[in-house]
Amino acid sequence: MICRNAMKSIMQSGYTTIDSLETQSPEEILRWTLDRFHPHVAIATSFQDAVLLHMASRIRPDVRIFSLDTGRLPEETYAFAEAVRLRLNLSIEWVFPKHEAVETLERAKGLYSFRESLEARKACCAIRKVEPLNRALTGLKAWVTGLRREDGETRAELKVVEVDEAHGGILKINPLAHWTSVAVEAYVRQHGLPVHRLTERGYPSIGCAPCTRAVEPGQPLRSGRWWWENPEHKECGLHGR
Ligand code: SF4
Repeated sequence: MICRNAMKSIMQSGYTTIDSLETQSPEEILRWTLDRFHPHVAIATSFQDAVLLHMASRIRPDVRIFSLDTGRLPEETYAFAEAVRLRLNLSIEWVFPKHEAVETLERAKGLYSFRESLEARKACCAIRKVEPLNRALTGLKAWVTGLRREDGETRAELKVVEVDEAHGGILKINPLAHWTSVAVEAYVRQHGLPVHRLTERGYPSIGCAPCTRAVEPGQPLRSGRWWWENPEHKECGLHGR
C-alpha cells in the first residue's frame, strides 16, 4: 500500500487539478483516476445501480471492480449484480468475510445479534464488511465509491477526492458526490441499464437483507438502513465514520 506521506505529496503536487475535480463530470473524474492509478485503483460497488460501472467500463473495459459479499445480501442484489456483469462484460472481484470469524460470531451470538445493540451491530459489520474491505484495498493507491452527499447527514460534507486516513492514506474518489437520485435514474434510463428490483419497491438504499427495508416517499434515503438506530449512526464502518 502506498504510504500516507507519499499520497499527501501527490495531493499537494496536483492540488490545482484535484481541486478542480470538484466541478468535473463523473466521467472526467473517472478518467483522471483511471489514467493515473490503474491497475492500482478499483471501484467498490454494492450493486445498487450500474452508473459508475457503466461509465468506468466505457473508459477502461478492464477496470478493476470489487464487491463485498457479506453472506446476508438480498437475492435481488445477486440477480442485479449478475445482470450488470453480463450486460457490461465485467470481471467482479468478490470479497468474502473470513469464515472463522463468522462461525465464531454466529455460534456465540446467533444469527441476529446485530439487532441487540449498536455495538453488536458494529461487531457484525466489522466482520462482514470492514475486515474484507481492508483486504480488498491492500496494495491499492486509490479506490472509487458511489457515495453521494444526498445519501444523508453522515455524507453531507463528502468531497470528490479525499485522503482515506483509515486505509493508509490512499485516495478515495467519489465521482457521484454531487449527483442526486434523479440524475442517477435519468442516466440509467438514458443508457437502458439494468435496475435493482428493490429500487422499484421503495428501497433507495440497499445493504444486507436483514438490515434494510423500504422507505416512504420523501423519507431520508438511508432511513431504511438499520432503521432501529439513530440517524447519526447510519454507517457500517466502511467509510470511516
Ligand atoms: S448490515 Fe447487518 S447483516 Fe450486514 S454486516 Fe452489518 S449488521 Fe451484519
